[in-house]
Amino acid sequence: MQEPLRATTPVEVTAESSERVDDAGRYSHRLGDGRVECDLCPRACRLREGQRGFCFVRGREHDAVVLLTYGRSSGFCVDPVEKKPLNHFLPGSAVLSFGTAGCNLACRFCQNWSISKSRETDTLADTASPDAIAAAAGRLACASVAFTYNDPVIFLEYAIDVADACRARGIKAVAVTAGYVCPEPRAELFAHMDAANVDLKSFDDGFYRRICGGSLRPVLDTLVYLVHETDVWVEITTLLIPGHNDSDEELDRMTRWVVERLGPEVPWHFTAFHPDFRMLGVPPTPPETLAHARAIARANGIRYAYTGNVLDREGGSTWCPGCGALLIERQGYRLGTYGLTGSGCCRACGETVPGVFADRPGAWGAHCVPVRLAQS
Ligand code: SF4
Repeated sequence: MQEPLRATTPVEVTAESSERVDDAGRYSHRLGDGRVECDLCPRACRLREGQRGFCFVRGREHDAVVLLTYGRSSGFCVDPVEKKPLNHFLPGSAVLSFGTAGCNLACRFCQNWSISKSRETDTLADTASPDAIAAAAGRLACASVAFTYNDPVIFLEYAIDVADACRARGIKAVAVTAGYVCPEPRAELFAHMDAANVDLKSFDDGFYRRICGGSLRPVLDTLVYLVHETDVWVEITTLLIPGHNDSDEELDRMTRWVVERLGPEVPWHFTAFHPDFRMLGVPPTPPETLAHARAIARANGIRYAYTGNVLDREGGSTWCPGCGALLIERQGYRLGTYGLTGSGCCRACGETVPGVFADRPGAWGAHCVPVRLAQS
């Protein structure tokens, strides 16, 4: 049996060339004025030949809007799955994370802006075929691969091919997404995913328009679609930005909507903002704000509400909603006490906890290790 590689050395893999293999232009159509409109996300860029869309990685080529950066990545890292964040999906396991460049939103608080706002193809330094990525994930003993750092919606064809290559090896696929996508490509993308963490950035359409350059409705539609029409395991993240999306009134409305429309069992992560990109003048989120948001969510019926980006054993751990027992203890990304059976039931009272669980938790730990996928 092959030893799993430790992730400190470059992973040597045979990577065949990364030719673009998408069937070009599925999600675009020609307009009467000669421009071609992209139908992948609600931004609906209208492009003339040679122009790139807002997301930077898609552009018009031969009368269709296509992915121009298939097979190119901004880098790879092995992370704990809790960092995505996913708390009910193979806890403690390692995930091979990667992204490309660009984004279809323009969040002023973006914590990954050097990637998402990059207009340099140098950002896409790592070239890797789907099979090379799947092979590396296997050799690194990763239970899953995650499309993260930027949104897989914009590199849908590449994400799908990587997911398929991984699933063929028994490795799961995770999308970390803002959910800002049109219905038809949404169905196609998520048919290839096992889990998703969806950002619900605010419950105010004005916030989405002013701060993110998007709109709220498509995101809510994506959440409803994923929870009710797919088998994808879903968790939600809300980055709380002081003075912008952390009022009691907004948190109350948002959590009530989730309970009513998605149900009380979707795990929710309230994470801490730190000043970045175009919001350098906004202070970091106080830990008390995260705890307060968690309390509002729980009072409104959310069964698994978490704090994130802070060390908070109480808010970061999973507690049994039936008997109150500690089910998965977390100090940051490090797991401690584990009180679930292999089928995801509380060992104390038998309450079923929703999610995807193995017989025992993974042992990856809290470390995040950059990886180079060397080409032969
Ligand atoms: S995916 Fe990119 S090119 Fe297409 S509409 Fe969205 S931002 Fe524009």
